Amino acid sequence: MAKKTGKTKDSEKAKSRIGEVRCLNCFERYRVPPKAEKFTCPSCGWEWRVSWVNPKLAKIRGPMWDRIRY
Ligand SMILES: [Zn+2]
Repeated sequence: MAKKTGKTKDSEKAKSRIGEVRCLNCFERYRVPPKAEKFTCPSCGWEWRVSWVNPKLAKIRGPMWDRIRY
């Protein structure tokens, strides 16, 4: 017996996008802890400077140049 359940709630879909940043090296999305000033990408290992536009919106400002050596 096949029962059809056609109703799905997607009103709570965009709930947890707080503090999400996207790595500019590998373009993966990750969440950073609130008020974090830097972020190390788990998949490529780059360190980024994080700035907060508002308490819920984090942005990557640029790489941590002083930690990267050529
Ligand atoms: Zn990355």
